[in-house]
Amino acid sequence: MEDKELLLLDMLSLVNEEMDIDAIEARLVNIVSEVFSFDRVGLFFVKHQKEILQGKLCKGFEPGTISSIEIPVAEEFPFTRPLVMGIPLRSTEIEADVFTRKMGLTNFAIIPLVNQKRISCWRLKNCQATDCPAYGKHGLRCWLVRDAKCCDRSESTVADKSELCEICPVFKSHNTNAIEGILLVDNSQSGRPIEEKTISILSVIAHAVGIAINNSKAYSHALRAAIHDDLTGLHNRRYFNERLMDEVERAKRYKSDISLLLCDIDFFKNVNDTFGHPVGDKVLIRIGKIFRNRLRKTDIVARYGGEEFMVILLNTEKDQAFDIAEDLRLTVADSPLPGKEKVKVSISIGIATLGVDAGTFEGLINSADKALYCAKSRGRNRVYMT
Ligand code: GH3
Ligand code: MG
Ligand code: MG
Repeated sequence: MEDKELLLLDMLSLVNEEMDIDAIEARLVNIVSEVFSFDRVGLFFVKHQKEILQGKLCKGFEPGTISSIEIPVAEEFPFTRPLVMGIPLRSTEIEADVFTRKMGLTNFAIIPLVNQKRISCWRLKNCQATDCPAYGKHGLRCWLVRDAKCCDRSESTVADKSELCEICPVFKSHNTNAIEGILLVDNSQSGRPIEEKTISILSVIAHAVGIAINNSKAYSHALRAAIHDDLTGLHNRRYFNERLMDEVERAKRYKSDISLLLCDIDFFKNVNDTFGHPVGDKVLIRIGKIFRNRLRKTDIVARYGGEEFMVILLNTEKDQAFDIAEDLRLTVADSPLPGKEKVKVSISIGIATLGVDAGTFEGLINSADKALYCAKSRGRNRVYMT
């Protein structure tokens, strides 16, 4: 097998194994420029919420040329057309725009990184028109193919395909969410032609990469969801338990300090009863934000239960933990919800310190719970430690 083929196989296997998006993209750019000897190669990704095509990586361009480019996905920028159409485009099919001029592009092709299974019109419509130019052309839809037949219309040109095509389920079935980015391959300096066969091979690779990027995003999303609380975005109880177990072991081995804060909102049931559950939820979100803002990066905050929060303070002795807890308590008491009702709550906090109150994971949680009980029974809106 030739070196080029090996490199391509390497690319496709990487797509199955590598979960890091940056690594997949970097590999794509390197391999494409090595195997096909283009003058220049660029990679752009789609910022889906803002509908922007953002330059990210390149080979052969001046440093910073591509990464500084941000193109809104819009009709007036033909460079972004593959994002809407979901098919590769060559420079001959695209009018020059301000961005192609800025990048000095005259002889190039753009290949979208499609992240979904493509739809073939003939499959979706089950027309079986095997003599149609769109038949069997993977990823092409009849409205994109000149003189393609359609079961709703015997024959038509691209220009013709307006009203009937617009109501067809295949029409513009791609939206920018189906595209992760684009690969730009450019031979403007050498003037070498970019062959159709090359564009077909690149399309297959770009499709595999688009799906790999999408899988990677789904995986990261699932990982994040497994250890975070939906409402507040803080870590959840599962993460807290695992992390505290690890940190207790580490602290014992290295003889370092750990303090735990168990925080509970006072009379929270009244907030729900008086203002309704959605307002109660806003209070929880606000307290989550306060905790994140006031605590250090190394402190671990979790929503432990309904209206209970746990904080693991690493390398923190009891007295220092008390000051931190007081700061949280005072900040919460002084931060009513914005709005005319200015809903205000207070919190009570129990503190437990490893090696002082308890020597194990379970012991630490029990001690914090007891301290919280004391804070509540002594009038609430207070911090308690033994
Ligand atoms: P205390 O000062 O003794 O802690 O009184 P409390 O009213 O806060 O305590 P209690 O345990 O009786 O009530 C806790 C309330 O927290 C009851 C429950 O409806 C509410 N709660 C738990 N999870 C959520 C949530 O996700 N959203 C909202 N809005 N309320 C919640
Ligand atoms: Mg409670
Ligand atoms: Mg409570």
